[in-house]
Amino acid sequence: METYAYYADGRWLEPAGGEYFTSENPYTGKTWAQIPRCNDRDVEIAVQAAYRACHEGPWARMHPAERGTMVRRLGDAVALHADRLADIETRDNGKRRVDIHPGLSSWLIDSFYYYAGMADKLEGSVIPTGRDEILNYTRHEPYGVVAAITAWNSPLLIAIWKLAPALAAGNAVILKPSEFASASTLELMKAFEDADLPSGVINTITGFGAEVGEPLVTHDRVRKVSFTGSVKGGASVAGLAARSVKSVTMELGGKSPQLVFDDARLEDSVHGVCGGIFPPAGQSCIAGSRLLLQAGIYDAFVGKLIEVAQRARLGDPNDPATNIGPIANKIHFERVLGHIERARKSGATLACGGNAVNPGGAGGWFIEPTIFTNVAPDSALAREEIFGPVLAVMRFETEDEAVQIANDTDFGLAAGIWTEDHRRALNLANRLEAGTVYLNNYFDACTQSPVGGYKQSGYGRENGWEGMRDFVQTKSVWLSTARRIEAPF
Ligand code: NAD
Repeated sequence: METYAYYADGRWLEPAGGEYFTSENPYTGKTWAQIPRCNDRDVEIAVQAAYRACHEGPWARMHPAERGTMVRRLGDAVALHADRLADIETRDNGKRRVDIHPGLSSWLIDSFYYYAGMADKLEGSVIPTGRDEILNYTRHEPYGVVAAITAWNSPLLIAIWKLAPALAAGNAVILKPSEFASASTLELMKAFEDADLPSGVINTITGFGAEVGEPLVTHDRVRKVSFTGSVKGGASVAGLAARSVKSVTMELGGKSPQLVFDDARLEDSVHGVCGGIFPPAGQSCIAGSRLLLQAGIYDAFVGKLIEVAQRARLGDPNDPATNIGPIANKIHFERVLGHIERARKSGATLACGGNAVNPGGAGGWFIEPTIFTNVAPDSALAREEIFGPVLAVMRFETEDEAVQIANDTDFGLAAGIWTEDHRRALNLANRLEAGTVYLNNYFDACTQSPVGGYKQSGYGRENGWEGMRDFVQTKSVWLSTARRIEAPF
């Protein structure tokens, strides 16, 4: 059994209350680690350390190019420790190992390199005020202490999307990973020790939303909150942050539609739709969990979709031959099964899957790829985020009807369109209410391209220049060269 400490002020610390909670391996269901159950006293240590780091320490005075060099070293540290990080994240939340390393690791490294290069390019501008005796210019300045609160489905990726730009901009960061998957973020802190950043610049405190997240979000010295999680959690955090008018970025849930038209290439679109939800067992914020099929392709598509979904091998997430790993924790496993049970009773047709399974007898939390057809657009199955391997299939006749169904949701994270008519694809890309639209592909992303939500899927953006802008505030400076200032009265 591994027992972790938490990381603040450049030190490994025992939780103030002396309590721990456990982490279970989703493949076996067995407990493998103890995680510090921090409380508000630990939050205080981390916040004061971060505050000192960005107001008094060398971080505050460092040349931006040097800060960029340090952020780059964090990327080097991830490269050096990629194997260990992947081992731990797979053990902790059941993500397929190949999806982390080599899958994600080059992206994680690139995030640091990309934002490292931006650290000394945060140029302000000189504003044309039209007055010769006035110089007005802008500066992009860090907020100071940033709270970065993350979800359990992809802990390293989500943490790094926040860390890299926040640090490059000159902030100090306190990470608060999910209580369901904290270990890989703590391992990341171990990896970062090689990079030798000043104490307090990066901190990770672990524990529950109410015990750690809330005191962090409401702390006076925290000036920016970047949150990734559910709509419910996000709404609560945004409300808490509003009490002291903090800047907030929200990356929340989704119920993303995939629209397939009669003229789509059948095989490619089936692969794209299946790949858009099932490989991470639906535990992706952008999972394409609503499938809208045009009437002419409906039967052929559903037949092929079932065939491909049933081919998937569920099993050990460490085995490269595994197609779909487990559900990340037992509470969520039971929640997804509850959604399936309610969907069965709702009148939709269960076309395949729907069962919990136990591949290899390992004892973990697996659910078959599940497809419901004849789903009513106003049913819970079509409207609620399940965050599991459950695809809801609906039928449409016309483009307008497809847009109406696709946009009739509280969410707006992503959407996919499959058609050979490129004029239609581009028109629909404009009409769909989503932060990301995929045309004849799904799931692509890169460091340079912004991601984020419309509607209740959130606000603010991660990645690209917009990801940096979320971690700076703009100051406007006015200088007068006038020889006299006129008396006001
Ligand atoms: P969650 O909202 O339950 O928890 C997210 C984090 O918030 C956790 O660290 C939790 O401890 C913390 N938290 C919860 N309530 C809090 C409070 N009142 N104050 C402070 N902190 C609090 O979400 P989850 O179940 O961990 O994650 C799954 C959700 O995340 C899904 O809805 C998924 O779509 C979403 N997600 C979104 C993105 C994106 O980029 N848009 C990426 C990944 C996951």
